[in-house]
Amino acid sequence: MTQEHQPTSVAQRTQKDIVDLIFAPAGSVLMAHVCTISIYGFWLYGEIAYQALLPWLVFSGVISMARFSLSGAYRIYAENRFSQRIWLNAWTALTVLLSLSYAYAAIVLTPLDKPEFVFAMGLLIFGLCGATTVSYAASVYAIVCMVVPVSALTSAYLLFEAPDERAMVVGVAIITFMVILLSLIRGVNRAFVKSIELNYQNQQEIDKRKLVERQLYDISRRDSLTSLFNRRYFDEVLDTELGRAYRNHTALSLVMLDVDYFKEYNDHYGHVAGDNCLIEVAQLIQQQANRKGDLVARYGGEEFAVILPGIDANGALAFAKRLQKYVESKRLKHSTTKLTTLDCVTISAGVTTVVPLMKHSPEQLILQADSALYQAKKEGRNRVKAYASLGFDQDLV
Ligand code: GH3
Ligand code: MG
Ligand code: MG
Repeated sequence: MTQEHQPTSVAQRTQKDIVDLIFAPAGSVLMAHVCTISIYGFWLYGEIAYQALLPWLVFSGVISMARFSLSGAYRIYAENRFSQRIWLNAWTALTVLLSLSYAYAAIVLTPLDKPEFVFAMGLLIFGLCGATTVSYAASVYAIVCMVVPVSALTSAYLLFEAPDERAMVVGVAIITFMVILLSLIRGVNRAFVKSIELNYQNQQEIDKRKLVERQLYDISRRDSLTSLFNRRYFDEVLDTELGRAYRNHTALSLVMLDVDYFKEYNDHYGHVAGDNCLIEVAQLIQQQANRKGDLVARYGGEEFAVILPGIDANGALAFAKRLQKYVESKRLKHSTTKLTTLDCVTISAGVTTVVPLMKHSPEQLILQADSALYQAKKEGRNRVKAYASLGFDQDLV
């Protein structure tokens, strides 16, 4: 879809709706004109030579068909071809031609010296203008295109060239009717356009609120320091994933991580540096947990948690070990760590995996991972331990 033809503002969308509404009644409008032209042609038949009548019938019929075809083309192509203005200009040109053809029938073809024909012609123009006003209430412009040429030309002719007073009266009536119609339709049209505008303004407001809602929801799920998911969202997801694993008989792994000797880091480098260190560690964890479905959360303080749906015990252990080595490889300076062989930031991890055969509680899973983490701390830190009861008790450093 061409960008420049895409309505964006309320005004542009309203304008597009108005043009849509101009093209909307194409079928019934065609029928109405074909009937009007046929009936008036039949009424004139016998009074004037058919050689004079036929070109008007053909011309008016062809223009009516062309307007109908243009509406069909608009429906098919308006979204991606030509601007609204081009479609509207083409429609205006055809409408003015049709209006002029009615003026021609009224002025040239109608025997104006015969009162019944003058009245019939007056009724024709009244009907034409009235029906046009109702059909195109969305656009004063569209009404003017059809009503003004035929009414103005015919009434001017009748006022200045009329063969008698009766024809003059009809001329006055036509011009008066035209002015009344145009002034009445302005109010209706304003209300019409206003309601379309209001509809779009409301839509814009709803879209804005939905966006704010989405932003708020996102903020409510995130930890403000690290931008990882927070504890509350972690609890929600763990519960959901446990349910899913239970239903599908699939594995679910949980890794709990804790920064080693972080109190010493804070004491030595200060709280702000400590914060920055947590942000860096969070990014490192996120970089490793990049599979779709993995969820990394800040569990609290300098503790993190990773939910690994569909990952078995071996996979989870391999992941945790890769992560522990990855953090170590970054050599984030930690000169006061109590590790004897390293002077950088390290993490310890506890891993647990379940393939739930009965409804497993999230607390149980967290406890298992926590006890494995406690074991890793106890055995010297900077290492990964698996929850013992699953048979993955080996030291993976
Ligand atoms: P261990 O190796 O046993 O985990 O020792 P540790 O010092 O890391 O553990 P401990 O629980 O004694 O200390 C955790 C420290 O983490 C204490 C606290 O000041 C710090 N901490 C917790 N949350 C934040 C935070 O948001 N910012 C900073 N800068 N420090 C934090
Ligand atoms: Mg710690
Ligand atoms: Mg801790």
